[in-house]
Amino acid sequence: MTKHFDYIIIGAGSAGCILANKLSENLKNNVLLLEAGGSDQRFWIKTPLGYAFTYNDPKVNWRYNTEPDKNLYERTAYWPRGKVIGGSSSINAMAYFRGLENDFTDWENAGAKNWGWDNVLKTYQAIEKHVSKKEIVGDGPIQISDLSEHMHPFTKNFMSAAKELNWPTPKNTPIATEGLGYVHNTTKNGKRFSSADAFLHPIKNRKNLHIIKNATVEKIIIENLQAKGVIYKVNNIKKYADANKEIILSAGAIGSPQILQLSGVGPKEILKKSDVKLIHHSPEVGQGLQDHLAITKYFSTHERTLNAEIGNIFGKIIAGFKYIINKSGPLSIPVNQTSGFVRSETKSTVPDIQIYANPIAYSTDNSGKTYVDKKSGFLISAQPTRPTSRGSINIQSPDINIPPLINANSLDTKDDQLMAIKAGKIIQQISNTNVIKSVTTKAFDTNFINFNDNDLLNNFCEYASTVYHPCCTCRMGNSINDSVINHRLQIHGLKNIRVVDASSFPNITSGNINAPTMMLAYRASEMILEDNI
Ligand SMILES: Cc1cc2nc3c(=O)[nH]c(=O)nc-3n(C[C@H](O)[C@H](O)[C@H](O)COP(=O)(O)OP(=O)(O)OC[C@H]3O[C@@H](n4cnc5c(N)ncnc54)[C@H](O)[C@@H]3O)c2cc1C
Repeated sequence: MTKHFDYIIIGAGSAGCILANKLSENLKNNVLLLEAGGSDQRFWIKTPLGYAFTYNDPKVNWRYNTEPDKNLYERTAYWPRGKVIGGSSSINAMAYFRGLENDFTDWENAGAKNWGWDNVLKTYQAIEKHVSKKEIVGDGPIQISDLSEHMHPFTKNFMSAAKELNWPTPKNTPIATEGLGYVHNTTKNGKRFSSADAFLHPIKNRKNLHIIKNATVEKIIIENLQAKGVIYKVNNIKKYADANKEIILSAGAIGSPQILQLSGVGPKEILKKSDVKLIHHSPEVGQGLQDHLAITKYFSTHERTLNAEIGNIFGKIIAGFKYIINKSGPLSIPVNQTSGFVRSETKSTVPDIQIYANPIAYSTDNSGKTYVDKKSGFLISAQPTRPTSRGSINIQSPDINIPPLINANSLDTKDDQLMAIKAGKIIQQISNTNVIKSVTTKAFDTNFINFNDNDLLNNFCEYASTVYHPCCTCRMGNSINDSVINHRLQIHGLKNIRVVDASSFPNITSGNINAPTMMLAYRASEMILEDNI
């Protein structure tokens, strides 16, 4: 039986929850939101440090693996993605960074007209509410909490190291353009505050909004180059729904290009290999993938860090009690405690490295399992902000249940290889400050401090890992030859269909990309409503 809607949104992630809210605000719009995952009402989703448990939990996570990466010694990487209401905003590390002005100048230069800094800044200001102990700034739906008062005491060493290196130490990291500071987070009253918490849960009872969980979209039906409806499966039963206004793909940087290719929209040679009938040759669908890679170094210390609190069973029990009784203690604070942007060289025109310095030593294996060291330790991580290499997401089967091939194609450009070396040098600089030396018992990688450029590059290739920011796989641009969508996020050459999520970025932004994804979705909702009066 066909069900009829005005709008169908595919994916209830960071972007999809915002669209569902905004498009159903007018009660005359009949909106369907389809999400492959289930409910987000789970203890480890709501608990900030629960991140370690949802990181590889198949109940809430797609658990992708990349193809061997030729420039990373053929290593494959584990790529978590949220498969649950709230999408990746329900399993992410909650750090909130807007990105830097130059990121959006480059969006405009790539053809994303009206997406320059002045425009996106207005949207950020409209959707944000910054809450610190002293003040509340803004009254938008997204709460960003300044938890600096509650950060682990060990983090003062990182701030002293920044001062020793003459880096700024800004108070407001989401807004700051440079320097190391305490990370502000999408949390509220000691709990995760996902895009679903901000936008979907408050309005989920609207009569004109239909949310279907555990609904996997298999295909979009396109007739005469116009999107008509979607085929999806719930409990193994195939269903069809149509949309008389628009279908919006918000299935994320892997899901959106996968669904498009399965619907016959993509590079014709990729579709042919998987026996998918070509509907519209759009060569850039799935291409242009970008992600952040970071190199992380671990150190042991004679001072207490989070390891002393949660690295053993007694500590875990106490932390659990503190959290259950009044949402306080280590479980209430996300793992990334200090972070920010620095210049790899004084002559760099913009900050080009993001640092993370965390009062904990832990590691994850390739299946996504996390190991927390028993003894006190800390980590310092550096990530080039604006990689230039591009990879791809391509289907390998006509079946939605077979994951697409993820080719990260990391360090493919000379520029990215140079930045990898510079990232290593930044870690050498921090670990060589007097304050960090004074608290370090041992560097896990004893030789790192003496590595030359060649060693640093090899080390990056051997150990760097994803920071979980895939994007740009259905990017905005000028025409079908250089991109998938136009500056109003409509697919080139098709009617009634847009892509609105991290895939829509023309280029990756500096810093973590949840904030730019939500900003993009909010602006997109305004455009969709304007175009459908
Ligand atoms: C482990 C981890 C840590 C991260 N940490 C941070 C951080 O600290 N700060 C930050 O800013 N960013 C962080 N990110 C990145 C950020 O969360 C994501 O970039 C952002 O959430 C992407 O939003 P999206 O809307 O594009 O996709 P998603 O939020 O992933 O939403 C896509 C939704 O579509 C659904 N879907 C996919 N395919 C289908 C289908 N066929 N049918 C129906 N539904 C489908 C998915 O289940 C999902 O719910 C992190 C990400 C991860 C995974």
